[in-house]
Amino acid sequence: MKQRDLKQLKKLLNEKMEELLSEADRTVDGMTDAKENFPDPTDRATLESNRNFTLRIRDRERKLMGKIKEALARIDDGTYGTCEECGERIGLERLMARPVTTLCIDCKSLQEARERKLRGAS
Ligand SMILES: [Zn+2]
Repeated sequence: MKQRDLKQLKKLLNEKMEELLSEADRTVDGMTDAKENFPDPTDRATLESNRNFTLRIRDRERKLMGKIKEALARIDDGTYGTCEECGERIGLERLMARPVTTLCIDCKSLQEARERKLRGAS
């Protein structure tokens, strides 16, 4: 992969990481504020489900941050942009759209088809 492309992808990943980090800060602030503003039990129930929702989002954010870190590490060790399933190069366009991906479009489609099948069977 071209150095220029790698640099661009690294920038994308770092930007995404910063975005997630600032969002995580905001979420924590929101949670403390809300607790004081809703002393009523009904509101507290709403707050509780909001909180679960928030925690789910944060969990997803945390996973995404992990993926971003892994992607950055792969850029540094030179394995970035190679499909971990088949070893083929992942298309640049796909990487730009989804820089944390570790699968080429073919393997990703296969994986999704398998997952759909599994879900259908259970
Ligand atoms: Zn592949």
